[in-house]
This record gives sequence, structure tokens and C-alpha cells, in this order.
Amino acid sequence: MSAVVPVTFQPSPQASADGVLRERGQREVFCGLTGIVWLHRKIQDAFFLVVGSRTCAHLLQSAAGVMIFAEPRFGTAIIDERTLAGLADANDELDRVVTRLLERRPDIRLLFLVGSCPSEVIKLDLSRAAERLSGRFMPQVRVLNYSGSGIETTFTQGEDACLAALVPQLPAEARGAEPSLLVVGALPDVVEDQFSRLFGQIGLPAPRFLPARRAGAMPPVGPATRMLIAQPFLADTTRALQERGVQRITAPFPFGAEGTLAWFRAAARAFGCDGDRCEAVLAPPHARAVQALSRHRAALAGKRMFFFPDSQLEVPLARFVARELGMTLVEVGTPYLHRELLADELALLPEGTMLSEGQDVDRQLDRCRAARPDLVVCGLGLANPLEAEGITTKWSIELVFSPVHGFEQAGDLAALFARPLDRRARLAA
Ligand code: SF4
Repeated sequence: MSAVVPVTFQPSPQASADGVLRERGQREVFCGLTGIVWLHRKIQDAFFLVVGSRTCAHLLQSAAGVMIFAEPRFGTAIIDERTLAGLADANDELDRVVTRLLERRPDIRLLFLVGSCPSEVIKLDLSRAAERLSGRFMPQVRVLNYSGSGIETTFTQGEDACLAALVPQLPAEARGAEPSLLVVGALPDVVEDQFSRLFGQIGLPAPRFLPARRAGAMPPVGPATRMLIAQPFLADTTRALQERGVQRITAPFPFGAEGTLAWFRAAARAFGCDGDRCEAVLAPPHARAVQALSRHRAALAGKRMFFFPDSQLEVPLARFVARELGMTLVEVGTPYLHRELLADELALLPEGTMLSEGQDVDRQLDRCRAARPDLVVCGLGLANPLEAEGITTKWSIELVFSPVHGFEQAGDLAALFARPLDRRARLAA
């Protein structure tokens, strides 16, 4: 196994009636363990224990920049050869590791057992393990599980699986509760604070966030809860919340000036706050965002962009670069096309945009080479070879690690696309 997963399905491409190219060939993506890198910073009293191999431990360390913490909030329980050979009981080993960890770290309130390819291959039942360990360590520590394996996943599914695992544990809202607003998706604290301020100024109830910053502060949910999704890859989490009665506010995602404006307006409409006050509150930050974008538009307008499927942010980002930066979309690849979640985004894409879902990496590379785009957004595994061929790239994972949501970050988001082109131009000069 490796962190970049080549997986082969049946031959492709498959024709489709809706004009989307569907491919099921070899793909190059990071696995869901990667999400731990940003999730462990968000939930400050949680610990992510990967049940995996040395490869999983190396992936986490390199993705996290080999940070040295006195009190790290993630680690790997390595399944060794004895366990793989069936000579040791994996459950006993796991219980021992968790007990030791929780004795040494009384600050942990929420422990995620994160499944990996090796734990899935040996069919280690982490949901039963989580139940057993929760029974032992509650109420001090709740133990949950989700899968971060690279078997048929892409890296942002790690966050989706983690949040979906949290949903059944969320408290129920009080009977007869007033309508409340829930923002779903891990966002940097600074972005959450900006959003909270704007919602408050518009006159909406103070939003709650999933995930919360602390395990004991997870939001209550129920039929009076209206959710705004902040990340386009949260399909399972959205479904799980809908099963708890939560109603979704449909909107484009808050990327760029236009997307963020539409996102706030949708929330304001859902709460009957979409009058002059809402427009007056949103106008100044929107104008600042438009101004910040104009600085990059000159460098980016007319440039041809190719998205390889990786982060699941591709469709909203394609809408953003096409409509707000004037870029031309050559191909917009996405690992999964969640039509319902992306309906408002798809409606805003330029007519005739070439969309592809899934991947057959060699065919897609051939299309990319033939098109010679000015900028390619792709995973790390493809970026170096493409750069070596003289094609400028942007790592898609950077778009997930960086604060890019909202009005104040719109200029930074555009800068992420402008910088590689600028670097290439300087090298050529
Ligand atoms: S979960 Fe699978 S793909 Fe991810 S690092 Fe571990 S072995 Fe590799």
C-alpha cells in the first residue's frame, strides 16, 4: 500500500447521457487519513488514533510536516506482522494501546479510531471496538470510529466520514426550539469568526459549527435546525444530518465574492432576514472581495485551466475561476459528482463546460497534454511529472489546507492560482 493509491477498475471511459465523462480506471489520490491534518487542529480535545501500518504513520507525519508536539493529537497504532499473521489478537492490542494513551493523556475527551487499508484488509471491526471502549471510558472519553482508508476514497472523504460519525452523537435540540443555524464543515477559526460576525449583523441567530472546537460543545440538532454546508465534499454528513431532521439551505459554496454573497443571502432568506439590512451588511465586504480579485484578474483572465479529480472542491473552484477571474475551463474533473449538493454550482458553470467524474489517469493525462492548459490543479503525485513536462501546476491539497472561504479570503484564493503562473513566468524571463 502507498499513500498515493493506484486502483484499477474496469476499462473506461463510459458514455453518459448527461454529457459527463465517467471514468473508472487507475487513479492517483491521497487517502482519507490526510483529513486528520486539519481536523486535529479543529477539535482541540480530540485524538485521532489511526489503526494502520507504518506507511499510514509516514503519510500522516509527512502530510503534517513532521510536527514535533509535546502533546500530539494524532498517532498510529501500528498493526504489526504478528497481528497480520493472526498470531496476536488485534482487539486486545488495540485495547492496550487505547488504555495506555488515555492514562497518559487525561485531556482527551473524544477519541477517533481511524480505519486504514490494513485494518480493513484484516477486517478489524472498529465500530465494535469503539463501542466497547466507549463503554469502558465514558463519560470521560467518547470513542468513535470512521474509515480513512485509501480503498475507493479520496482524501477529503476523511473529513466527511469523521463528521458523519459525529452526527448520531449530537444532542437533540430542545422541544419547541427556535430555528437555529448550523454551518457544516471544518473551517479555520478566523473564518468562523468572520462568518459569525456577519450572520449576527444581518440579524440571524448566532451560528453553531460542526465540528465544534471542543468535544463537549458539539451542536444540538433537530427539525428546527437549518444547515448551510461550507464544503462540497460532505455528502454523507449532509445525509446523516437530514436523517436527524435538519433542513438544508441550498446555496453555492462560499468561495469568491459571488459564491460567498449567494451563500449568505440564502441563509438570510431562510430566516426571513433578506431585506435592506442584509444587503447593507454584505455590500462592504463584498466590494472588498471584488477589489481584491481585480488585482489577480489581469494575470489570470483568458488563461486555460484543467482540474484533475482530487479534492472534490473542483466544481465550485471552476465556477469561481471562470466567472470571477475570467479563466477558461478546459476540463473539470472531480472524484465524485454530488449532483444534489452541487446543483447551485453546476447551474453557474459556463455552458458546455467539460465535466469528468472518476479517473483513468493515463487517458486524462493524454487529454491534458494534448490541450496544453496554462494551469493544472492536481494532486501531488501528478504535479511533479507535469511540471517536468513544462506544464504549470497547483497542488489541490493546498486549497483545503489554506483559509479560502469567505469574502476576506477571496483575494488569497485567487492568489493561489496566480502564484504558480507568476513563478513560471519569472523562471522563463
Ligand atoms: S490508509 Fe491505505 S492508502 Fe492511506 S496511508 Fe494507510 S495504507 Fe496507505
